[in-house]
Amino acid sequence: MDYIELDASIGEGGGQVLRTSLALSILTNTNLILENVRAKRSRPGLMRQHLTGVKAAAQLCDAQLTGAEIGSTSLRFEPGETLVKDMTIKIGTAGSTTLVLQTILPVLMCASTPCEIRIHGGTHNPMAPSYDFLREVFLPQLKKIGPEVELECERHGFYPAGGGRLVARIQPVARDKFRRFELLECGRDLGRRGESIIANLPENIAHREIEELVSLMGWQEQDCKVRAVNSSGPGNVVLATMMFGNVTEQMTSFGEKGKPGERVVRDLVKEVRRYLASGAPVGEYLADQLLLPMALGAGGEFRCSTLSQHTKTQAEVIEKFLEVEIGFERVDEGGWKVVVDV
Ligand code: AMP
Repeated sequence: MDYIELDASIGEGGGQVLRTSLALSILTNTNLILENVRAKRSRPGLMRQHLTGVKAAAQLCDAQLTGAEIGSTSLRFEPGETLVKDMTIKIGTAGSTTLVLQTILPVLMCASTPCEIRIHGGTHNPMAPSYDFLREVFLPQLKKIGPEVELECERHGFYPAGGGRLVARIQPVARDKFRRFELLECGRDLGRRGESIIANLPENIAHREIEELVSLMGWQEQDCKVRAVNSSGPGNVVLATMMFGNVTEQMTSFGEKGKPGERVVRDLVKEVRRYLASGAPVGEYLADQLLLPMALGAGGEFRCSTLSQHTKTQAEVIEKFLEVEIGFERVDEGGWKVVVDV
């Protein structure tokens, strides 16, 4: 069998190289040898959440694994036959459920049978897409390509207590039926929404955050609200959602011990302003997440506000496995145009 040896410290050098190459190893039936896994992170190697992703990917295709241990910086993954079934995956920490899903979803979304995946861990983690981001931003764009995923948050999970539960019901579409993707303009302005989600903390924190958001952005009070949720431990996250005819984008900011709610919102507002000022439909994070479904299918193009190191690294990893070309060009209207040629 063919094999690909990858230095996982290329470019951004985080967990995304691992997740993308695992999915592509299964989809292209290629043995994978990874060195320097998460070499650029403060705690390099596989952490619980990555290891859970590796094991879930291995379970999906009956893979042979070497180096699948906490802290390991090298991994050998030899995929066998893919057999999709319903799975319950327990991370065992507050590790991100959405990133575990990101590891296996590319395989599940073009499989021959639907499935239901339940993942226990964190549902709202810094440096990962939140449950809300996946459901409101990423999945509606994926649906335009073809696959349909219904996502449910059975229970919220925040760092460090975790205890969240995410359920994904996946309706796959064969890769040769994937539609070409195009997202160059935002489309009609359909409004804004602000939300402060809070668990096991005084609710006035969330009310102050919403007041700050309304005052800084001038958004309508009735569009901004507080949502108290059940969770195993304390948690707070503020979401700013911008809805347009062609896209919904969402920026996220996390409450932290010792960080006043007003600062949480000011950080959020900076991101929102940067996105809106670019006039581009696709934000920094959606950009890197769209590349793989586009490359697996019929390609396409989009315009994004920021060209992140994540997006460039994602393109580099994809080009190692698939015969596609991913190009970037600065555009006069604002932001970057990303073209996926298949
Ligand atoms: P890595 O840092 O390599 O583990 O990859 C992190 C992944 O999480 C990337 O796919 C990012 O697009 C995504 N991500 C990080 N922060 C956010 C955010 N605030 N909103 C949405 N997605 C995010």
